[in-house]
Amino acid sequence: MVNATYSDVWNLDVFFPGGSSSPEFQRHLENTKESIDLFFSEVEKWELKGDAGDADALDNLIGLFEKTAMKTRQAGAFLSCLKAQNTEDKKAHELLAKATGLNASFQTALTVFDGKLARIEDDQWNALMEDSRLKELEFVLTERRVRAAEKLSDAEEAAINALGIDGYHAWGQMYDMVVGKTKVHFSKDGETKELSVGQAANLFSNPDREVRKAVFKEWEKAWEGNADYLAKILNHLAGFRLNVYKLRGWDDFLKEPLDYNRMKKDTLDAMWGAITANKEPLKAYLKRRAELIGAEKLSWYDQDAPFGSADSKVPYHEGAEFILEQFAKFGEEMTSFSKHAFENNWIEAEDRPGKAPGGFHTYFPESKQSRIFMTYSGTPSNISTLAHELGHGFHTFAMRDLHLLNRSYAMNVAETASTFAEMIVADAAVKNAKTEEEKLALLDDKVQRSVAFLMNIHARFLFETSFYEERKKGFVSAARLNELMEKAQREAYLDSLEEYHPTFWASKLHFFITGVPFYNFPYTFGYLFSLGIYARALEEGSGYEEKYIALLKDTASMTVEELAEKHLGADLTKQDFWASAIKLCMDDVHEFLELTKNL
Ligand SMILES: [Zn+2]
Repeated sequence: MVNATYSDVWNLDVFFPGGSSSPEFQRHLENTKESIDLFFSEVEKWELKGDAGDADALDNLIGLFEKTAMKTRQAGAFLSCLKAQNTEDKKAHELLAKATGLNASFQTALTVFDGKLARIEDDQWNALMEDSRLKELEFVLTERRVRAAEKLSDAEEAAINALGIDGYHAWGQMYDMVVGKTKVHFSKDGETKELSVGQAANLFSNPDREVRKAVFKEWEKAWEGNADYLAKILNHLAGFRLNVYKLRGWDDFLKEPLDYNRMKKDTLDAMWGAITANKEPLKAYLKRRAELIGAEKLSWYDQDAPFGSADSKVPYHEGAEFILEQFAKFGEEMTSFSKHAFENNWIEAEDRPGKAPGGFHTYFPESKQSRIFMTYSGTPSNISTLAHELGHGFHTFAMRDLHLLNRSYAMNVAETASTFAEMIVADAAVKNAKTEEEKLALLDDKVQRSVAFLMNIHARFLFETSFYEERKKGFVSAARLNELMEKAQREAYLDSLEEYHPTFWASKLHFFITGVPFYNFPYTFGYLFSLGIYARALEEGSGYEEKYIALLKDTASMTVEELAEKHLGADLTKQDFWASAIKLCMDDVHEFLELTKNL
């Protein structure tokens, strides 16, 4: 395969020439504002007349909604690209503030719109949904209507939002502030250094066990030192939420996160049930890993300890070709989409200073184009990231012709296509490894992901559940939070660690995010759901791609149970589906144990 090398710098000028100084982008923001204002005033004027014109009026409003959402998303995508490619771009930050303001007024308009949907009489609603233009949007529109109906009156919800600025979100910001001031004292060779929590966390992957152990001790001490403040913050965040739920008449604290992820409680229970019943082999893996790093039993701080090395660097072009080659074994559409992305400068991968860390995919709906951001230095994990982001891109590509309202998938299915693409490439990488050592490192990387999703995230869910249960009855002290956390970790890790991390509740940002509660189970869902589809793809072989695309298209217009029933013939509320996905993880564990038995 000989062809020209792919550029590792993206092209943003096709959207708005001139980066953050682009006059075209300024104009775009002005147009967006006009579009929001028009939508808002039409929403305010809108009322049902009880005749055939009602469907026309609603369809017209939805047309404005779609057009406005396209504009705000196009702006958001451009801004996230500008910010990431150059963290010093001050102009981009100014523009971002402007766009955030626009988004807020769009949200206000949408709240009024949803409130009006909620007040439509059932028979009138049913008649409206018979209209062929509205029929395809029935799921998303009904969801908006039901969610608005389950809340309090517009005025009461507005009051909650207003009070939440100082009484809720402020506690989240307070957490960031305390974390920023938290220092970890670390002594080495008679010299004591004051480390930020980020710097200290990096030392957990230090190859020297004594270093990890020493840092961990100080790490726990640092969080313990602020535990009373942090416990207060956590209690008030949960207390605010529980009070809002009570006012709305919701008695289950899982209602909000489950609704948000369009899934049933039974599905969540079946997933954790299958995990608990099938994760036993991970115990043997943790034991073997302890032996490999020369410890008797693995400690919390050993989880990221490296062993062996897979130091082969692969140039960008070769990495790209490797991905395309593996995708080609799965399907033509995914391959041609990815090739198009490589050939048309959709990917920013250059290794240069000034770029933001991490990787992401974003979509420009008005242009029907994706952009992928990352920093590629040639490691196996870079290749996975590239495949992961291309998977996200393919998801949006599969949905490109759908109504925009039918393209907003929830967090739990958002990672389906990305994990799927990553699996294809990770499996091939293990098979193609040039040395035993490289193979082992790649396999270990895969199993580590299972430990993260099936043990670490499970512990977070168990903790958060028991914490909310106790919080309903009153304030939960820092000491009690430590107890609950250690208990959750012992259960999720099957008692296989030597030492646990009781103050993990304080050190993990995810428990303090005000956007959505229970920022944990959707990760595990996404991982296993994707593996379940992957298991199906392996069974059915070539020709599965068409079915895969059909599934992706439906990810934002039905519940996850309906999605699995329609496209996989699977019942997510039963353990079988989940068990088949977990089996793939355990196959890796068995292979790892086999390969390391004589080491
Ligand atoms: Zn992702």
